[in-house]
Amino acid sequence: MPNYNDLINIEEFWEKKESFTEERWEVSFYCKDCKEIVETERLNPNKYEYKCKKCSWKNIVIGTLEWLKSNYRIK
Ligand SMILES: [Zn+2]
Repeated sequence: MPNYNDLINIEEFWEKKESFTEERWEVSFYCKDCKEIVETERLNPNKYEYKCKKCSWKNIVIGTLEWLKSNYRIK
């Protein structure tokens, strides 16, 4: 189960996404199709739209590594 505090954090994360930068948040990308942390390609610099480099789909979840790990039970 995801940690409750992590879920709170991710809500804040999305509320603040206008000032979002990858560097600042140290985010990772989880591909729901590959079911793992993947490298991504940003499709549009003005949008939060990413493509998985592995399967080329856009089923990407953005979050901190810790949050993704607990939420998707990544080992
Ligand atoms: Zn993928």
